Amino acid sequence: MVDTATTLAKRQPALAQNQYLCTICNKTYKTFHGLIRHENSAHRSYNQPPADLISLPPQHIEQFKRLLVNEIHKKLSLHYTKTGKQLIKFPCTDSEFVAVFGNYLSRFSPAKRTYCCIFKDYNAEHTLRNLLGDEQWGTRYYQDNQKSYVQLYLQENKIDEDVSNIKTIKVIPPEMTVEWFQEKIKDIKGHQTLGGQLRIRFRINQEHYS
Ligand SMILES: [Zn+2]
Repeated sequence: MVDTATTLAKRQPALAQNQYLCTICNKTYKTFHGLIRHENSAHRSYNQPPADLISLPPQHIEQFKRLLVNEIHKKLSLHYTKTGKQLIKFPCTDSEFVAVFGNYLSRFSPAKRTYCCIFKDYNAEHTLRNLLGDEQWGTRYYQDNQKSYVQLYLQENKIDEDVSNIKTIKVIPPEMTVEWFQEKIKDIKGHQTLGGQLRIRFRINQEHYS
């Protein structure tokens, strides 16, 4: 497992001795952690992707979307032990990530080169349908009118029950987060490899439909 914090800390190049630049506002910091603290407080909503991404052919983007939908469907099981929180890890470039999710970034961190999107509420279902180019991106149907699906909001007939539960149990509204991280491995001889990983977190639910 890559120690992300360590690799990130080592990746940011020093400008001069002990200087780390915020590329959003050009302030400099003495430590990488100082820069990260600044980004977290001053640029928490910054969501402009970097300019050095590769522009991909539309066919490539469509193919990539199909791979993502396939990964989601792998998780849409009917087995009762497979309900609840899901995590998909998927190696890809940030050019691929931004080609699909770039218009919906909640945050981009230039210092760490991480991206984050959050999809929730009823409208998110429609957004993801368009984004992924598949009407059934988040639902898998099974025999006997059963289905397994990505939950993005609480259903109306369950709201009363969930609201009353808030007093006793903490109900977290469902959402889907899509993030991209850069990974770096450096060996003892100084050889480096760079990777990128997309991570999708969501909750699945199963029910009978009529
Ligand atoms: Zn700044």
